[in-house]
Amino acid sequence: MRDDKWLKNLAKRVLQRYFPDVEIKNNLFIRFGRFNKQRLGTIKFGRRKEDPNTFITINGFFKDENIPEFVITATLAHELVHYSQGFFSPHPQLHRYPHRGSVVNRELTERGLDDILKLQKEWLKKNWADYIKKNYYV
Ligand SMILES: [Zn+2]
Repeated sequence: MRDDKWLKNLAKRVLQRYFPDVEIKNNLFIRFGRFNKQRLGTIKFGRRKEDPNTFITINGFFKDENIPEFVITATLAHELVHYSQGFFSPHPQLHRYPHRGSVVNRELTERGLDDILKLQKEWLKKNWADYIKKNYYV
């Protein structure tokens, strides 16, 4: 089983490799969250009003080593693009909406994450529905 420490290390590698120009300007916490059928990851502010913390939460299913690492890398990178574009981070907000106009995928491509994004998409399309059927108990 992967744990939060493993996830933090992966995030560190993703930041160093693909986001070397993006300054982490506040406390950024990255951790596994609940098991979720749909959402792969989220980014949110903590409760503190002044200088709020940022929380990136990754689907709890991704602790399972049957999920390929590139799926998690792509999910982390997606949330880190939001961070860099000023959504739930101290950076200036670059767009009015977080997803409209494929602004996230465009930046992922610019940062050299196109292949990983494609791998993630293909893997999810092929496997996710079955995985959920086998592993999600309501
Ligand atoms: Zn998003």
